[in-house]
Amino acid sequence: MTRVLHLHPDRLFPADPATRAIARRLYDQVKALPIVSPHGHTDPAWFANNEPFPDPAELLIVPDHYLLRMLYSQGVPLDALGVPTRDGSPFEQDSRAIWRRFASHYSLFRGTPSRMWLDWVFAEVFGLDVRLEAATADLYYDRIDTALKTDAFRPRALFERFGIEVIATTESPLDSLDHHRAIRASGWPGRIITAYRPDPVIDPEQPDFRDNLTRFGAITGEDVSTYAGYLAAHRKRRAFFREMGATSTDHGHPSARTANLPPDEAAALYDRVRGGYAPPADAELFRAQMLTEMAAMSVDDGMVMQLHPSVYRSHNPLVLARFGPNTGGDIPLPGEFVHALKPLLDRFGNDARLTLILFTLDEDTYSRELAPLAGHYPALRLGPPWWFHDSPEAMRRFRERMTETAGFANTVGFNDDTRAFLSIPARHDVARRMDCAFLARLVAEHRLDEDEAQEIARALAYDLAKAAYRL
Ligand SMILES: [Zn+2]
Repeated sequence: MTRVLHLHPDRLFPADPATRAIARRLYDQVKALPIVSPHGHTDPAWFANNEPFPDPAELLIVPDHYLLRMLYSQGVPLDALGVPTRDGSPFEQDSRAIWRRFASHYSLFRGTPSRMWLDWVFAEVFGLDVRLEAATADLYYDRIDTALKTDAFRPRALFERFGIEVIATTESPLDSLDHHRAIRASGWPGRIITAYRPDPVIDPEQPDFRDNLTRFGAITGEDVSTYAGYLAAHRKRRAFFREMGATSTDHGHPSARTANLPPDEAAALYDRVRGGYAPPADAELFRAQMLTEMAAMSVDDGMVMQLHPSVYRSHNPLVLARFGPNTGGDIPLPGEFVHALKPLLDRFGNDARLTLILFTLDEDTYSRELAPLAGHYPALRLGPPWWFHDSPEAMRRFRERMTETAGFANTVGFNDDTRAFLSIPARHDVARRMDCAFLARLVAEHRLDEDEAQEIARALAYDLAKAAYRL
């Protein structure tokens, strides 16, 4: 006895009929706008090679750390979900077995955004109309596996079907960007751009930092044994990334700390961390100094900066040792921005040539720190709710806590921030629905007229992302 899978047209809208009617009207005007995806982690090789995606488990389960963490928390071992082991111990290789295991635990995702995103993929991308559970696991597997082998489900065809206007991937300065080059050379008009993520050559505590610097010197032809040469290498690499479409940089730091050291002190600090064995205080100060250096370069070359601070990566040492990073063991830390950003803001906060987009996993900072900062400094913008907060409830909290101080124009639309390519339209759709729901309440309470809410709904769905990321 299977159960129906049905995406309700009013999902996420207010339950009150008057407000719901307003939300429906607002959403009708924005639901079909093209998708602008200025920050994410899709693989450019998909669009360069346009090969069929692999089987259902390899595509939808194994790389999704949102799914892995929940299943692991309820006793499903990661090796049973096909996550490759680092120690050579066996892991499940049978995709159908992984899929069945996932299906029999799918009820764990009730009430989570993963359930909403996946149900959308099942219904809208693959046309499934029964719910995923143990009894329907094989039906799902066969339907998805068959579809993935057809041309209509290759990466470029899906990109076009999804109405994506532009999508940014994220690459290290050490990446050759060969896939981006190949996409450009292919004549296919899909707009896939890169973004400059220099953490591997900026964070002395990253594994292989010392080797990374050597490769950074080789790839740029600059002498990275001096601070001046190291900064020149960044400038050169950023220019190459811009040739491959980049309009932004992205910085994933343990904190938002910035510094603005005199040049001789910065050079001496670089000498201390270059070997890769810096004391933690030096490593933190170097990352802080480099955020300000990156801001200086952004003022010159126009790249928008994004800062994603304060995550404890790989909190679980057992999982890290056995399965590596990005397997669901990351935990948010408290955020602090007011003191941390001051050195950078003292230098560039009033300079409208810089756009620095701030993200946080600490909602306590929304109304206390981030909205007041972005509601004052011309260089600052607020990134959308990120990662653990890419969810309906957190989107509501974001608007409730940010809007009265920072307005809408100091926010930058939505980021899907994902490598789960098939879920991208679902994620943007959730954001559009939640923004329309928020605006509908303001209209219902006579705080906005509906024509104003309509303009804002469009800006949040489309215009702000293009403007903030200079796309
Ligand atoms: Zn990201």
